[in-house]
Amino acid sequence: MSLIEVKDLEVHYPIRSGFWNRVTDEVLAVDGISLDIEAGETYGLVGESGSGKSTTGKSIVGLEKPTKGQILYKGKDITKPRNRHELDYNQDVQMIFQDSLSSLNPRKRIEDIIAEPLRNFAHLSKDDEKLRVLQLLDIVGLDADALYKYPHQFSGGQRQRIGVARAVATNPKLIVADEPVSALDLSVQAQVLNFMKKIQRDFGVSYLFISHDLGVVRHMCDNIAIMHRGRIVEIGTRDDIYNHP
Ligand code: ADP
Ligand code: ADP
Repeated sequence: MSLIEVKDLEVHYPIRSGFWNRVTDEVLAVDGISLDIEAGETYGLVGESGSGKSTTGKSIVGLEKPTKGQILYKGKDITKPRNRHELDYNQDVQMIFQDSLSSLNPRKRIEDIIAEPLRNFAHLSKDDEKLRVLQLLDIVGLDADALYKYPHQFSGGQRQRIGVARAVATNPKLIVADEPVSALDLSVQAQVLNFMKKIQRDFGVSYLFISHDLGVVRHMCDNIAIMHRGRIVEIGTRDDIYNHP
């Protein structure tokens, strides 16, 4: 059974302009797409910049509100906030971003950044929380002295590890990874991708892996959808997509 089923998703953004900042137009960012993400798989969403990949990912996480369509999780449509709450959806679905320097709060220590989702959901004692954060740091290959540092004190690759530690803190079922290695040097990209694979094996998590880089997608993904101007123009297994006649 699918973990997440996206059905006929459509997302418009309002365009505002003029002194009164009125809505004068709209962009159709996602134009009626459907896809199924299976438990434990890496699902690739590829396409050029502006094709609607991020908007799709954010809609699945619940950060954008779709104009039309459904996103089904455990048989319920999580585009409705009531269902997200009822299913503990915010615990089960997490997101990591391309630029972890701007997505990790620069004024918070790593301990608090990683513990934040735990504080929302797990209600651990202070001691248990610290143990869990130390365990998460260990899983992503960072030393305990990271606890008291701030995001700017780490390299891009290390910050992506911190983003992943935060994302897996609540044992999620799906992580939406939006261009997770695009901002990194090539040598670091391979390290981060390999450790994301390891995390997947250890946690049994699924990824929605958003990327414009076909080589990276080929390395990572089981099923792939190619987007162009808000639509899916090709969809299939990795072999279907890469071994075209
Ligand atoms: P991708 O991730 O493939 O680069 P996006 O989902 O970011 O594509 O963007 C799809 C389209 O929606 C683009 O035309 C983009 O300019 C537009 N868009 C994205 N976010 C917003 C926003 N917050 N407000 C208005 N338009 C947006
Ligand atoms: P705060 O709101 O306490 O300043 P942040 O700036 O770290 O904290 O986060 C802003 C919002 O974005 C919060 O609601 C947080 O839960 C959410 N958020 C930040 N990073 C992630 C992530 N990797 N996955 C899911 N949600 C996130």
